Amino acid sequence: MHVDLVESLRCPRGHADGWLVATADVVSDRRIVRGTLGCPTCGAEWPVVEGEVALDAAAPADHVGAATPTAGLDAARLPTAGEEALRADALRAAALLDLRDSRGAVALLGESARLADALVELTGVLVLAVNAPAGVAFAHTRLRVSDALPLGVGTLRGAHVDAAHGAEDWLASAVRAVEQGGRIVAPTSAMLPGDLRELARDDAEWVAEVRVAASGLVPLRRGGDPMAR
Ligand SMILES: [Zn+2]
Repeated sequence: MHVDLVESLRCPRGHADGWLVATADVVSDRRIVRGTLGCPTCGAEWPVVEGEVALDAAAPADHVGAATPTAGLDAARLPTAGEEALRADALRAAALLDLRDSRGAVALLGESARLADALVELTGVLVLAVNAPAGVAFAHTRLRVSDALPLGVGTLRGAHVDAAHGAEDWLASAVRAVEQGGRIVAPTSAMLPGDLRELARDDAEWVAEVRVAASGLVPLRRGGDPMAR
């Protein structure tokens, strides 16, 4: 968990303005390897284990990162045979997401997180890997979440979504987290949300731009009370 990404995270419990506070036990290269994320508003806490945090509304149970031997920061790299293909996919992703400089952060959801390493190498942006498959060793922050991105409004410059995260709720949380003018790439199986402007589409995926910045008053989850503070 990169310390510069902590400010993008929000409490997943549905109350407004749920900024989180990180406590680090072990830090390596500005990444919290072991520590705790806590919400000062509702008191919830989530452990950071091997750089990964399961940030769900329910109380943390058995931690995914702790149970997955390949999830560690020093886990084996992906096979060399796939690296050229990954690099080509990452170059395409960087172009589609318009990552011409190293500013800001992008989220890679599900299978898209396989591009994390190559994308960092190509662009230097901060990469948030969400529900990454086992074996994705490198990302600045690895999150496990069950139904939405627990991120603040406009805290990302882009998001790359796989088919498993192409449902309406996932995309809505991605649109909310991406800044105005930022881009979202998703497979063609995913419906284009109405508040995005489609820029291009091929057989595999579409790329679209966030037209209007989301309102900070929109609750993160259904059932949340935007007036509650
Ligand atoms: Zn909270």
